[in-house]
Amino acid sequence: GALRAAVPAARPSADRPIPAVLGADLEVPVRGGRLVPYANLDYAASAPCLEPVGAAVAAALPAYSSVHRGAGYASQLTTARYEQARHTVRAFVGSRPDDVVIFTRNTTDATNLLARALPEGTTVVVFDTEHHASLLPWADAVRLAPPAFPGEAVRAADEALTGIDGPALLVVTAASNVTGELWPIAALAHVAHRHGARILVDAAQLVPHRRLNLTALDLDYVVFSGHKLYAPFGTGALVGRADWLAEAEPYLRGGGAVKAVNGEADADGTAGPGAAGIEWHDHPEARHEAGTPNVLGAVALAAACDALTATGWSALVREEERLIGRLRAGIASVEGVHELSLWGPDHPRVGIVSFVVDGFTAREVAEALSDEYGIGVRDGKFCAHPFVRHLLGAKDGGCDDLTASAVRASIGVGTTDEHIDRLIGALKDLTAR
Ligand code: PLP
Repeated sequence: GALRAAVPAARPSADRPIPAVLGADLEVPVRGGRLVPYANLDYAASAPCLEPVGAAVAAALPAYSSVHRGAGYASQLTTARYEQARHTVRAFVGSRPDDVVIFTRNTTDATNLLARALPEGTTVVVFDTEHHASLLPWADAVRLAPPAFPGEAVRAADEALTGIDGPALLVVTAASNVTGELWPIAALAHVAHRHGARILVDAAQLVPHRRLNLTALDLDYVVFSGHKLYAPFGTGALVGRADWLAEAEPYLRGGGAVKAVNGEADADGTAGPGAAGIEWHDHPEARHEAGTPNVLGAVALAAACDALTATGWSALVREEERLIGRLRAGIASVEGVHELSLWGPDHPRVGIVSFVVDGFTAREVAEALSDEYGIGVRDGKFCAHPFVRHLLGAKDGGCDDLTASAVRASIGVGTTDEHIDRLIGALKDLTAR
């Protein structure tokens, strides 16, 4: 009881002001040595840290200790904070009561964890539009071509899942990290379940922008990263059904994952406590979190979840829609700049826009934006090589092929009209050269 009281609970009330981000006053040098305020338009790679997240980490720093093992007060407090963070994440994605939350390093770590936990003989079906974190962990996935429209995604998944013997997993991203477009995940979940398959949703680009309710959407697993959700690097989560994870080999073998190690080494050193002597924890949250966890990372991730929830999704989405509308209208107004999309300009999307500029490589544009205007964007293929090639109608060209690349501008909490207007002004300057 006393410990619970010492750990600040999530504030239930909604509609607080949108929080500030750390580093909003950062100034960066541009050509000629002048300093200008940094226009960070690269949130989809890593978002800045929210002020309340920094405050939560600062509050946890003075009294932390080992987690899950110490008897001392600080250790109990740290354990309570860590488990409270797990609870916050569980609620943030609208989990079912018996779902598990496994803290990982990031989304990539989470998809790989699930890949290792699949029952023997699981068929994995994945779209070629995925980020590499969701495309590559599977040994032998069935890969589906980029669908021409959302209904085609559902139809292709339906066909691919038909007639599969044994367990199957459909993998799909909720919001593309290249175009920001939203995928029909509820319909895909429905089709997966109709075939007795499960669905994993890569929510890395969804959760910073939209509310996700795993229960309402009937998703089996979701994964995401803290560093895209306004928390610092190093923490992500795999949330979802317990059974496969409870049966699987521990992701890492070591303390925390193990209940008991029985048996002793023989005197002659030939036999140690063999596999028969090892009893792993059954509960996935222990079984797959061997070693000392990133407690401060979990505290930060939970603080970000709390801050967004307390602000309220309607206010966050309203402001993002306004900004993304301004950004896209601006881009459309510049001759020679072309926005990329799979499903057309009217399909709903989060705050991510990728584009190409006639006469310039993406690298040239990105470098000019940084060097001359103090604007940070990303260029390249965004760890989604097959998808970007598809969007550009390009052939395999290796990662150094600068012609098959795009520029990506992505926004979120802390983005201002001035950041967007500066980008549009810079693109106008560039294309007029
Ligand atoms: N999935 C999507 C859709 C992403 O945008 C990213 C971002 O890099 C990832 C997965 C991988 O995230 P991380 O690098 O944090 O593992």
